[in-house]
Amino acid sequence: MSASETHNPADPVVLIVEDNRVNQLLLIEKFKKQGFSSVLLAENGQNALELALKKKPQLVLMDIQLPDMSGNAVIKRLRDSGFSNPIVALSADTLAQDRERSLAAGANGYITKPIDFNVFFDRIDGYLRKINAAAGPLATGDEAAAEDASGLRPERIAADVSAAAKNIFISDGKEKLHLLAEALAHAGDPEQMARIKAIAHEYKGSAGYFGLGGLERIARELDSGFSDQAPPEHLVRLTRRLVEMVQAIIDENQ
Ligand code: MN
Repeated sequence: MSASETHNPADPVVLIVEDNRVNQLLLIEKFKKQGFSSVLLAENGQNALELALKKKPQLVLMDIQLPDMSGNAVIKRLRDSGFSNPIVALSADTLAQDRERSLAAGANGYITKPIDFNVFFDRIDGYLRKINAAAGPLATGDEAAAEDASGLRPERIAADVSAAAKNIFISDGKEKLHLLAEALAHAGDPEQMARIKAIAHEYKGSAGYFGLGGLERIARELDSGFSDQAPPEHLVRLTRRLVEMVQAIIDENQ
C-alpha cells in the first residue's frame, strides 16, 4: 500500500521540516488556524527522514537550508525510499535554478520565503486535492513544473487592499492587456518588446502589494528573461502567460 492510499481527506497529516524557530511557530499556527490538527515538526534532515517514513504524512513542507543536510538531499532520499506524497520545498532562494534543483530532487512545488499567506493555502489545498484524486503515484517534479507553468489559479486580491486601489489595479490591468495584445501582434518590433518589458517590470514591483504571488512570479520570470536576453519565443510564451494571468485576475476580482 502506498503512502497516498492511507490518506484521510478529513484530516491530513502535514510534516513541517524547518529549523528556524520563528518559522516553525508561524507555520504551525497558520496550519492549525486552517483546521489541520495533525501537524508534525522536524528540525533537521535526519529527523525529517525518520518522521516522514514512519508517519507517512499526506504533505511535507521542506525547508531547503537545514543544519545537517540540504532539504533537496532529504527530498531525494525520501523519493528513493518510495515516499510518493507531495513535498513542497520552502526556500528564500528565488533563482530559477534553485527551484529547478528542488524539482529535480523530487519536489512537487517550490514556494519562496517570505511566504505569501494570501495564496499559500490555495496551493497547499491544490497539492492535497491531488492526492485525493490520485489513482497512481503522484506527479513527478517535471509534471509539477509543467502544471505550474500552465496552471492558472485565478488569484484573489488581498483582503486588506482598499476598494479604490483594487479598482485602479483592475482598470490599469485592462489597459495593460490592450497594450500587451498589441505588442504580441508585433512581437518582432523592439519598441513593442520594450513595452512588454516595462509592464513586466511594473507588475514585478506591484503584484506583491496586492497579494498576487502568481502574478509576481511570472512578471519576475519575464523581467529576468529580458535581462538575460532569453530567446524571443521564450519571451513571447511568458508574455502570453502574463496576459492570461492578468485576465484571470480581472475576471476573478471585478
Ligand atoms: Mn532553514
